[in-house]
Amino acid sequence: MSTTGPLDPTAMPRFGGFATFARLPRLEDVGHAEVAILGAPFDSGVSYRPGARFGPAAVRDGSRLLRPYHPGLDVAPFAAMQVADAGDTALNPFAIHEAIGELERVAAEYGDRGTKLVTVGGDHTIALPLLRAAARRHGPVALLHFDAHLDTWDTYFGEPYTHGTPFRRAAEEGLLDTASACHVGTRGPVYGRADLEEDERLGFGIVTSADVLRSGPDEIASALLDRIGDRPLYISIDIDVLDPAHAPGTGTPEAGGMTSRELLEILRGLRPARLVGADVVEVAPAYDHAEITAIAAAHVVYDLLGLYALRAGRG
Ligand code: MN
Ligand code: MN
Repeated sequence: MSTTGPLDPTAMPRFGGFATFARLPRLEDVGHAEVAILGAPFDSGVSYRPGARFGPAAVRDGSRLLRPYHPGLDVAPFAAMQVADAGDTALNPFAIHEAIGELERVAAEYGDRGTKLVTVGGDHTIALPLLRAAARRHGPVALLHFDAHLDTWDTYFGEPYTHGTPFRRAAEEGLLDTASACHVGTRGPVYGRADLEEDERLGFGIVTSADVLRSGPDEIASALLDRIGDRPLYISIDIDVLDPAHAPGTGTPEAGGMTSRELLEILRGLRPARLVGADVVEVAPAYDHAEITAIAAAHVVYDLLGLYALRAGRG
């Protein structure tokens, strides 16, 4: 097996072999990686359909077809830097506080070793410990949060740590440079107007799914870049930001979402950004059809790797 890039497709067809992300080497086989794919199979924080604990395995399987060169970003991510699959982190499905603490510890360890992450969920609860680790390393980070939902609710059934609350906690804990934090792709009904007012009070900007339709991906990306500047940027992508037609396999689907083409084009428009961390969450394969969601998520991860690769060696 090649230790630098994906398994040679002339030696083993892409549908065969071990299902690491994009058929990359395992981190333990290469020792060190500039960027690692980390699975976080945890869904004990969901408010509706469960099943995102099976997300990492589904996204890995959906990533088999990826190829090594990205024409849209003019970069070969696996040649520009060492990328590896770090496997899954073991998170206690019966103890949400313990799971959050463990993921924060693991993410901080990768940061200390100089390995940046794309973490594959898992439900959106995992964004909080990942942001804690990122902020501990970089200070308050700029945040682009792609999601149908705000995820800034206060509690569910009195519980503060759920998949609908990570960005409220992150703002309260001072993990975010909220002047450069923005939700993208927001849509669908909320519990009341106060949800939007409280979110605005926390400092978040909102680009709705309808804004993307009306302005187009280039204009949206340019406005987001203006907002984040050269601050360290964390990108959190809930796959339900896509319309259910493009991502049926998720726990809290909302009609009227953006297409996978729009999402990928917005990400490509962010090429100057200083990405320091990213996650792709809420893929729940039991509701998927023909791997639509898993393949979309795999391509989203690949674009995030492309953004990392464009800055590889530039810190
Ligand atoms: Mn969501
Ligand atoms: Mn979410």
